Amino acid sequence: MKLTFLGTGTSTGVPSIGCRCETCLSTDPRDKRLRVSVLVEHAGKSILVDTSIDFRQQALRADIRYLDAVMITHCHVDHVFGLDDIRPLNFRHGAMGVYANDVAWTGLRQMFSYIFEPTHFGGGLPQLVPHTVTPGSSFSFGKELEVTPLEVIHGKLPVIAYRFNDFAYATDLKSIPAESKDGLRDLDVLVLDCVRLKKHATHLCLEEALAYIDELKPRRSYLTHLNHDILQSRESRLLPENVHFAFDELQVEGAI
Ligand SMILES: [Zn+2]
Ligand SMILES: [Zn+2]
Ligand SMILES: [Zn+2]
Repeated sequence: MKLTFLGTGTSTGVPSIGCRCETCLSTDPRDKRLRVSVLVEHAGKSILVDTSIDFRQQALRADIRYLDAVMITHCHVDHVFGLDDIRPLNFRHGAMGVYANDVAWTGLRQMFSYIFEPTHFGGGLPQLVPHTVTPGSSFSFGKELEVTPLEVIHGKLPVIAYRFNDFAYATDLKSIPAESKDGLRDLDVLVLDCVRLKKHATHLCLEEALAYIDELKPRRSYLTHLNHDILQSRESRLLPENVHFAFDELQVEGAI
């Protein structure tokens, strides 16, 4: 299993337009954050989580040539506004399976109405094969990659965290319901939301993220959806062993 962080920034990205703070002016490449997305590769399968607003740039940077499917966590602009940019992959490989929960599909059908109710002529449209996920109902790609959608709560919005064998990706959440916690145990790698140092209404802050890590006990954890509070060289000192701030282009490999 290999996880590539395509983006690790909060919804504005880092640097944030117009900001002159230490992080936004930092020359450390680990402080330059596109909007959150990861690529999961295992046993010949490639799965993208979220078509972020920066997807085109991320796909070119990571040299993505093929995807088996896209998993959508939720329908917020930072996570889905790159959906139109799957078209070059459609041109080469045909329609793409896209997985999301009911709530996200309602949002996607409104936000991308031109895809679902084509009214214009000329220009290629994204070609999707929609799949609706149900929390706790696993499915597989090939024989070796099992995906389990799990529900987490982002303010009031139900968001899907995805478990891939013993890796899990859980962003944009304020709380993890008890039934989902059971699906997030015995992990090699947990990627978890951590928007900033101070408390936030709809995201985990650092203290809350560390409390969940302490409870769920993954072997390794990576924090993502980071805003400009987090200067890698400074805030990394606040983290316990085996917990890290993720950064763009970081790759994490599994034991198996
Ligand atoms: Zn977000
Ligand atoms: Zn800043
Ligand atoms: Zn969100």
